[in-house]
Amino acid sequence: MKEVKHVFFDLDRTLWDFESNSEATLKELFSDFKLSEKLGISDTEFIYEYKRINEIFWEDYRNGTIEKQHLRYGRFETALKYFGRDDKQMASEIGELYISQSPRKTGLIDGSLDVLEYLNPNYKLHIITNGFEEVQHIKMQSSGLSPFFQHIITSESAGAKKPSGVIFDFAERLTGATAQNSVMIGDHFEADIIGAMESRWKAVFFEPEKPKMKNEPFIHIHHLKELMDIL
Ligand SMILES: [Mg+2]
Repeated sequence: MKEVKHVFFDLDRTLWDFESNSEATLKELFSDFKLSEKLGISDTEFIYEYKRINEIFWEDYRNGTIEKQHLRYGRFETALKYFGRDDKQMASEIGELYISQSPRKTGLIDGSLDVLEYLNPNYKLHIITNGFEEVQHIKMQSSGLSPFFQHIITSESAGAKKPSGVIFDFAERLTGATAQNSVMIGDHFEADIIGAMESRWKAVFFEPEKPKMKNEPFIHIHHLKELMDIL
């Protein structure tokens, strides 16, 4: 990828370890709200169903069928309801605490800092994320990612979410990058990979747990450190 000058990373599940950070926060909230007694279930059961429900809410949010505020408490309201508790008030309290506590967790995907240190001298590094503006900045500061990045582009600042071409155009204008000298690295096939390729960017699909794909119009990696062989 000789012509690449700008490397754009997705944040959640690509650099910031969303799964472990989210799970740690959910366990704390589960215990603080005494959900074991109130719902008669274990934190593992709650987290399993919450994650399934959260995916559906995120899909709806990406598609624009629900608003941010509804995503924030609706996923907890639905999860509580699933276990037999209809409690809007509690759902909204848990939702607010989740949003304030989880971004302060500092778990990163294995190899993140090594790769960023390797890339930093030779490339301009940026983030493109569909996550919320105020939340993503806290995550980056808490986990020590901020100093590596020139621009943090959120869907809220761009006015469109990945995979829309609008956010990739916005990123080019903001950073002075072009499609030719840009690569997008992310874990979400539609948002990151299809999105980037439709804007004629290069794309690296980070998918730790799947068999290696070959002969695709994008590069498939299992570990972030593979980027050191590509860039
Ligand atoms: Mg992601």
